[in-house]
Amino acid sequence: MRLRHIKGAEEDIAESPYVVQEPKELKGKWHEFFGNNNPIRIEVGMGKGKFIMELAEKNPDVNYVGIERYSSVLLRGLQKRAEMEISNIYFMRIDALELEEVFAEEEVDRIYLNFSDPWPKDRHAKRRLTSDRFLPIYDKILKKDGIIEFKTDNQGLFNYSMESIPEAGWTVEAATFDLHNSWMAEGNVMTEYETKFSGEGKPICKLIASRNKDAE
Ligand code: SAM
Repeated sequence: MRLRHIKGAEEDIAESPYVVQEPKELKGKWHEFFGNNNPIRIEVGMGKGKFIMELAEKNPDVNYVGIERYSSVLLRGLQKRAEMEISNIYFMRIDALELEEVFAEEEVDRIYLNFSDPWPKDRHAKRRLTSDRFLPIYDKILKKDGIIEFKTDNQGLFNYSMESIPEAGWTVEAATFDLHNSWMAEGNVMTEYETKFSGEGKPICKLIASRNKDAE
């Protein structure tokens, strides 16, 4: 998602109390920052943040961090955030490649990847958030028993991820090509893209991955 540049977006983000302005300074100190020892769950590429804000509202005992690289998109999320009475969620405008500089080893308990950009051309495969460029980063920041939850409508990206994830040493614990008609639908929170695509009749794919237990 890349919206037309909004004038003043950077300034609004820089002044927002909901955005962590210097996230690298919090590396290893996120629990201190939240003021509790609750688990920390992040969404990489949150877009306007509907999903992660809904989760934060439903689960006050979990800390959430939404990550988005484009200011214009993040700004839309902030407008919605301002209407909510919650204290367990913050946002960051960074690229996923910087995650290792922001979180210490095993500081994160779960990673959500929702409707990540598919980058269909082979020469762009490394930009996919489930490629071997990003999986080692998740491996570092995620607790040993942490999981990645990945949803997409894009069959090509899903098939690619069903291979790239095990190749990087993870185990696909569960997967479906039709989330909304599967046992995995229980408790499902829809993202913005999910609402749009499932409304068009497209099936949604989901997988849950953990570390490769066979390798231990
Ligand atoms: N997760 C939302 C949803 O499901 O409605 C938004 C999906 S949108 C297709 C993907 C989002 O991921 C875009 O807003 C894009 O800017 C963001 N994104 C893609 N690559 C990223 C990266 N490397 N780091 C941070 N955000 C990224």
